[in-house]
Amino acid sequence: MSVTGEAATGEALEVWIDQDLCTGDGICAQYAPEVFELDIDGLAYVKGDDDELRQQPGETVPVPLTLLQDVVDSAKECPGDCIHVRRVHDQVEVFGPDAD
Ligand code: SF4
Repeated sequence: MSVTGEAATGEALEVWIDQDLCTGDGICAQYAPEVFELDIDGLAYVKGDDDELRQQPGETVPVPLTLLQDVVDSAKECPGDCIHVRRVHDQVEVFGPDAD
């Protein structure tokens, strides 16, 4: 999947994972280890640039533009359909199971 449309204009995006649906396969952490990491509970979490996992339900981290393609590919390949990428300013999902 190529990055097109509004996401390509450099609009600020953020990403979160619905751990209730995560299968723990680790595909996201392979695609974008700077943003996704498996914790000891076997589930994936988003990670900030401070390297700390965000473990509150629905917690987000910004998507660095340089990693956008990797994050989008993760959302596309995620077997749990549980990686959500949305615009910061209006919270509209642009990649993931709830995107148009
Ligand atoms: S790719 Fe999806 S299902 Fe797999 S570990 Fe990452 S968030 Fe969980």
